[in-house]
Amino acid sequence: MDLDALRIDVDRLVGRLDALGEIGAVHGPNGERGCARLALTDADRDGRDLVVGWMHDLGLDVHVDAIGNVVGVRAGDDPTLAPVMTGSHIDTVRTGGRFDGNLGVLGGLEVVETLERHGVRTRRPIAVAFFTDEEGARFQPDMLGSLVYVGGMSLEEALDVRAADDGARLGDELARIGYAGPVPCPAASAPHAFVELHIEQGPVLEDEGVTIGVVTGVQGISWTELTITGQSAHAGTTPMRLRRDPGYVAAEITAGVRAIARQMAGTQVATVGRLEYVPNLVNVVPSRVTMTVDLRNTDEHLLQQAEHRFASLCERLAADEGVTIERRTLARFEPVEFDARMIDRVEATAQRLGHSTMRMPSGAGHDAQMLARVCPTSMIFVPSANGLSHNIAEHTDTADLQAGADVLLQVLLALANEG
Ligand SMILES: [Zn+2]
Repeated sequence: MDLDALRIDVDRLVGRLDALGEIGAVHGPNGERGCARLALTDADRDGRDLVVGWMHDLGLDVHVDAIGNVVGVRAGDDPTLAPVMTGSHIDTVRTGGRFDGNLGVLGGLEVVETLERHGVRTRRPIAVAFFTDEEGARFQPDMLGSLVYVGGMSLEEALDVRAADDGARLGDELARIGYAGPVPCPAASAPHAFVELHIEQGPVLEDEGVTIGVVTGVQGISWTELTITGQSAHAGTTPMRLRRDPGYVAAEITAGVRAIARQMAGTQVATVGRLEYVPNLVNVVPSRVTMTVDLRNTDEHLLQQAEHRFASLCERLAADEGVTIERRTLARFEPVEFDARMIDRVEATAQRLGHSTMRMPSGAGHDAQMLARVCPTSMIFVPSANGLSHNIAEHTDTADLQAGADVLLQVLLALANEG
């Protein structure tokens, strides 16, 4: 048969998305259908059981590893060749949607089912994985399962992580829900390649009217918490020249980091997301302000440049206003660049299928960035309606689901048939 003409069955894919979405379903007042399946809860177990059942139905060889990552393998014709892997996660945040993560896993199963129904064999095995605790909503860090899978964190350390909500130990919760598997983790060998289908979780594709995002990498993240301390004073009696006002400094920093991002242009973004005044009263110059600055860039060198400019801004303002500024790093991840040939392959495949494409970095973290440490990796993005994600109103149109899963099918097919 003509493999290039092979397409997935989007109704079957939507059927599985809906069925999985019923587990931990959260219904909104305006008909929204979201999901709450925090990692290693009973709901997560029920979701895992459903997906593992589907893997068995499709004849996959299912492996559960020591951190609870699940990999279903469809055999290839040459057992000596490493598998091509796809997948994502099925845990969600408390106010999650039905597509984030789930699409990548169920899209992978849909590819397998399409191959099965058409009797298509491949040289290499095809593996569909879901990784434990991608969201980090209950156990930090996020992307924990894939991080351990690639050897970026020791199994022992990961099993000892405590839940942010109830203090439960990750290893105990894993055993409780029956997913402390026998397969060693980190994995003994790397896949031939990894491709992850995911919703964009942002507004760019919809805004540009583009169907397929060709993901070039994942942004680096630098989070800083600032504590600015000045002198509390009467708002009426203290002349401007005698003030040491942390509120004013916080405003200058807010405007300043935006100016840095605008001057640097490119992919640099800067956000002040949290700002707390003490004592927060109308007629008092504040004594202290706590705030956060989130800087991101796809280029490590440029991210460091933004960090330096931000640091000098703080030093200058502290000296000018006579306040002290304490800086504390909350998170720091270097950017990840995906494999150039894998990026080209996703782009060429999407274009061959007649879809509009644009290259873009991912603003959010994904399991693919961990897999990129051990094998050639790339991602396929599809649009998120209104740019919403981590929100029960999260939605992706059926036509876009079809497009994304078809690109995944064709990319996996090509990879699975190469030597
Ligand atoms: Zn996700």
